Amino acid sequence: MRSEFEQAMMGMAIDEMRQSSGRGPKVGAVIARGDRVIGAGHKRPGVHAERAAIQSALEAGEVLKGSVLFTTLEPCVSIASSTTPCSQLIVEHEIQTVTLEDLTRIP
Ligand SMILES: [Zn+2]
Repeated sequence: MRSEFEQAMMGMAIDEMRQSSGRGPKVGAVIARGDRVIGAGHKRPGVHAERAAIQSALEAGEVLKGSVLFTTLEPCVSIASSTTPCSQLIVEHEIQTVTLEDLTRIP
């Protein structure tokens, strides 16, 4: 069972996911610190959802260390470009990750 908070974060991540654009799976991500949302993002061409969420938190001046990232798809470990993979980005910012399963089938 997920907590109410996790369910709320899941709902937000799904809302983000639905706004995705570009090729490949739709992905949404939300970053929370304590019980507060500090960042959110979705996949768009050339930018993964996790990166978009991290950027939105940083732009808002939020501290990412110790925050939790909720994502609808497991963060990538390698991508075919010179961009840092999301999993590495998450580790660098000392973010915990919660991956929400079985969401890739939601239209
Ligand atoms: Zn990625």
